[in-house]
Amino acid sequence: MYQGGCLCGAVRFEIAGGIRDIVYCHCSQCRKAQGSAFATNGIVEAKDFRILSGEDALSGYESTPGQTKYFCRICGSPILSKAKSRPSQVRVRLGTIDSDIDERPMAHIFVTSKANWEEITGDMPQYEGHEPGR
Ligand SMILES: [Zn+2]
Ligand SMILES: [Zn+2]
Repeated sequence: MYQGGCLCGAVRFEIAGGIRDIVYCHCSQCRKAQGSAFATNGIVEAKDFRILSGEDALSGYESTPGQTKYFCRICGSPILSKAKSRPSQVRVRLGTIDSDIDERPMAHIFVTSKANWEEITGDMPQYEGHEPGR
């Protein structure tokens, strides 16, 4: 069981299962949405993800048709995204999780969109688009 929440504490959530396919996404949308070099996102089964408080503080922005990013409208923390095409999953922004997690990132994606000031280091696989299998 993992617990997390936004910067101001209004939104709290828990994850009853595991997190899979954790990636560092360097695409321009993720960079804007995080205000940083990349987003760290992982897939959680929608049935395992539960908002404990602050559901009314969550605002959504449809960044791509059918894909909505949800953030705390008080403090701006990005919490998760949902895709209409995959109603059984949510993609959680891992920086909002307070618990230590067991899973580890598996890849860098959209590396050709990375900021020119960012240097990607390490041995993790790098993909020009989505990781294989998505
Ligand atoms: Zn907040
Ligand atoms: Zn991205």
